[in-house]
Amino acid sequence: MVNDCIFCRIVAGELPADVVDRAEDWMIFKDIAPAAPTHLLAIPTRHVPGVADTVDDDTGLVGDLVGALTCYARRAGIEDDGYRLVINQGRDGAQTVPHLHVHLLAGKRLGWPPG
Ligand code: 5GP
Ligand code: ZN
Repeated sequence: MVNDCIFCRIVAGELPADVVDRAEDWMIFKDIAPAAPTHLLAIPTRHVPGVADTVDDDTGLVGDLVGALTCYARRAGIEDDGYRLVINQGRDGAQTVPHLHVHLLAGKRLGWPPG
């Protein structure tokens, strides 16, 4: 756990979050500032700053996060209408929280390409 990391503090229960699913290695909770009717974040329970830090990772961490969200989407009935998964990395990727997370956006027709 990294003490000044808000997502580590959510994992530890020190900050509130609207958690929709969790397992030992990951959790899914609602984004505090939703950019779509459904906006979830899947994060690893251990601190990993970003997707760039998983290059040498052999645990399949990103696959686990994507799998958790796609399973959730199927259960929640949003698979047919579709959704978008997003990982922002670093400054130009507009990453604002330096703890790896995958966004799930759904519930409206999303624009493309992103700005
Ligand atoms: P990024 O821009 O880093 O890809 O996305 C970070 C996301 O985390 C943003 O969509 C932002 O709204 C969300 N976020 C930031 N702080 C909190 C928080 O304290 N709780 C929750 N649930 N989401 C947060
Ligand atoms: Zn963290």
